[in-house]
Amino acid sequence: MLDLSVRDVKYLPGVGPARAELLDKELGIKTLAQLIHYYPYKYIDRSRLFQIKEVDGAMPYIQLKGKILSFEEIGAGRGKRLVAHFTDGTGIADLVWFQGIKFALSKYKPNTEYVVFGKPTVYGGRVNIAHPEIEAEANLNLMEMGMQPLYNTTERMKKMALNSAAIRKLIRTLLDMLIEPLPETLPDWLIRREHLMTITDALREIHSPGSAQSLREATHRLKFEELFYVQLNICRYSAARNRRFKGFVFSKVGNYFNRFFNECLPFSLTEAQKRVIREIRRDTGSGVQMNRLVQGDVGSGKTMVALMSMLLAIDNGFQACIMAPTEILAEQHYANITQYTEKLGLNVQLLTGSIKGKRRQSVLEGLVGGSVNILVATHAVLEESVVFAQLGFVVIDEQHRFGVAQRAKLWEKNNNPPHILVMTATPIPRTLAMTLYGDLDVSVIDELPPGRKPVKTVHKYDSNHTDIYAFLDQELKKNRQVYIVYPLIEESEKIDLRNLEDGYKIISERFEGYSISKVHGKMKPAEKEAEMQRFKRAETQIMVSTTVIEVGVDVPNASVMVIENAERFGLSQLHQLRGRVGRGADQSFCILVTGFKLSEDTRKRIDIMVDSNDGFEIAEADLKLRGPGDIEGTQQSGIAFDLRLANLARDGILIEQVRNIAKEIIAADADLSQPQNALLLRELKRLKKSPFDWSSIS
Ligand code: ADP
Ligand code: MG
Repeated sequence: MLDLSVRDVKYLPGVGPARAELLDKELGIKTLAQLIHYYPYKYIDRSRLFQIKEVDGAMPYIQLKGKILSFEEIGAGRGKRLVAHFTDGTGIADLVWFQGIKFALSKYKPNTEYVVFGKPTVYGGRVNIAHPEIEAEANLNLMEMGMQPLYNTTERMKKMALNSAAIRKLIRTLLDMLIEPLPETLPDWLIRREHLMTITDALREIHSPGSAQSLREATHRLKFEELFYVQLNICRYSAARNRRFKGFVFSKVGNYFNRFFNECLPFSLTEAQKRVIREIRRDTGSGVQMNRLVQGDVGSGKTMVALMSMLLAIDNGFQACIMAPTEILAEQHYANITQYTEKLGLNVQLLTGSIKGKRRQSVLEGLVGGSVNILVATHAVLEESVVFAQLGFVVIDEQHRFGVAQRAKLWEKNNNPPHILVMTATPIPRTLAMTLYGDLDVSVIDELPPGRKPVKTVHKYDSNHTDIYAFLDQELKKNRQVYIVYPLIEESEKIDLRNLEDGYKIISERFEGYSISKVHGKMKPAEKEAEMQRFKRAETQIMVSTTVIEVGVDVPNASVMVIENAERFGLSQLHQLRGRVGRGADQSFCILVTGFKLSEDTRKRIDIMVDSNDGFEIAEADLKLRGPGDIEGTQQSGIAFDLRLANLARDGILIEQVRNIAKEIIAADADLSQPQNALLLRELKRLKKSPFDWSSIS
């Protein structure tokens, strides 16, 4: 059978060395297989003819049938253009060429029936089409042309006449060469059971659809395949991991957990917290090593879930560790956990970069000797000198701040890896989580503790600063604290943004008499921490900063978050920043300040922020606005396949469906070694770009 993946695109008639180089450089297309998988981005209906009198400038593409009345060359030098006055009897349209004038004059003749195709603009009541596609009517069978595909091309390609129409012709040539069917890429039984098109039909249809219905079927088949192999890969690795690693069994709920629950818990748990704790209890009792992601919006109470899970570990004779991305967060957790567990007589210790000398030595000894029950740490815990007697449970807080390699090191702290609970306040939509973290189980805390007042969010313009400052005055007079966040640290010549330094100056002058903190990413960690601590202790009332305060810091007395140049921030970042306020019982506010002129996307982002406080809703919207490629984590997460047709934001149902099929296959044949699965194994190998298996260290 014809293997397109070993055929150089250069040898396709109509390509040649120059175009081959262009295809490679601009689109990464080297082989015929890559060409045939270069799908159209949309289709236009070419069976339809318009009348000139009904054309308006808003139409994307139109097709007219008629004759050229006359040619006219207008202007001179670089401004020179050729205009052909064209009529279909209902009006006149001007066809315009800025380049290729000679060619057009020699090729097209007056008084011949042509079909003209292009994007219309309307100037002073006159229809214009620049650089139209023109065919003699006699050469076309419009009914057969039906839906015509459009392909993305780059400026460079267009300059060298390798435009959408040229790509269409190349692919048509390729399809015409296919006499035999292409090797099938999904097993026959699956194609039959799921009523899918064959790969050959699907590829033919996607490039030259016979009807809207068959195009839908072709698209479905190709999307199905993309998503199916991603899920099959994930299921295969998670099955392999479960076999490789036995989990510690936490067989009982003991004294620490029960006493804590009955005597120390300062509030009642939300239903969502209870559910997640139950899920963790079930996992850790099952004999399989747990890898669970807990997603919960800012302020949803993840720390308590972490603490109670750690108590479960201690009840079963293990040590537990919680790792936070910054010292200030680690200290915060340490203070909270010590306080919560005061009555239990546990040994809770803190380990960060600034804990040195004797204190550090004593912590290390307690860990290796087994007397320390809970370690609260920064990534200082990853150093080799840190050894546990029996580490059974690890919590990684705000996981998106840690790299994959750092997480991997935690696995090596024990012969048998501990159970791992990863917590994130950057909610990821379910479909994305299933793909990114397909081998992690996902728990969701979808409920905030009672009595929280949602943060009131408003949108203001730069010109409203007088009012904004007056509002801050009011809040400060009530002894509340205020954050003011800027996107940049230094003046940028290109982008005219008010930067942190300028902002600090303005704020210092305007708010004389208040103490003001300033924190940015270029400060030394120790300085940063010290300044944050001052704000936390309310020694300063205003915190002027860049986004370094984004994660986790809890200052319940802060009631206003002002975000300057909010147009420069992504949605999830805005939501994270907003999560710094609204942590106390009082009403809190978030003020998004932007310039007056906003792009459509920015306006949508701001509107979503003003309308919604729900992190999941915001994450879904973000996914739709930006596409999954930009979302944090996608790059290094090891999605080894690119998705061309499937869309993680929109194809949720299909993802679930293929995931179930993948699970079913792996359950029956975990390493795909049975003969009927040989094709699956071959396809996985072929699709896999990265030779490294990230999935075992998620
Ligand atoms: P996050 O999920 O953002 O890490 P935290 O764990 O820091 O949230 O919790 C935020 C605040 O909510 C803390 O002050 C915590 O004590 C409080 N809290 C957590 N769970 C509850 C609950 N069930 N009822 C009332 N307050 C709670
Ligand atoms: Mg937290």
